[in-house]
Amino acid sequence: MAVATGRLKLETQGGGQILEITPDILKQVAASKIQRGTVTIFLTGTTAGVGVMEMEPGTVKDLQAAMERLGPRGAAYQHNAMNAGETNGHSHLQASLFGQSLVVPIEGGKPMLGTWQRIIVMDFDSRPRTREIVVQTMGE
Ligand code: ZN
Repeated sequence: MAVATGRLKLETQGGGQILEITPDILKQVAASKIQRGTVTIFLTGTTAGVGVMEMEPGTVKDLQAAMERLGPRGAAYQHNAMNAGETNGHSHLQASLFGQSLVVPIEGGKPMLGTWQRIIVMDFDSRPRTREIVVQTMGE
C-alpha cells in the first residue's frame, strides 16, 4: 500500500463563500499514481468546511441561505459572550454542522465522483483567512 500526503492552501473571504477545489484534488490524486484506494480531504480549521455539491448558482445560494438559517449571524452565541473580542460564534457552529472531511473512493486512478459532484470548501468565518486542506491518497 502507498500513501501520499499533500496540502492545498486557499485564500478565502469568509461569510459563506464557496470555492471549488475539484481540479486540485484530481491533480493530487493523479500525482500519487495510486490506481485503487481512497482520497481523504481534511480541512484543518474550525470555521470552514469541506463537502460535495452541484456547482450551480442556485444551489450555491440555497446552501448559503440554509447555513445562515442554521446559524444566523445576528443571534446570541456563548462563544462571543465568553471570549472577549470574538464575533464568529455563528461561524464555529455552521462549520461544526457542515463537517471538515470527505473521503472519495478511487478506481482507475481517478476519484469516483458522480457526474455533477464537485468538491468544495465553504468558509463561514467573519473575516478573510488562509486555509490549509490536507489531501491524503491511500491505496495501491
Ligand atoms: Zn472564534
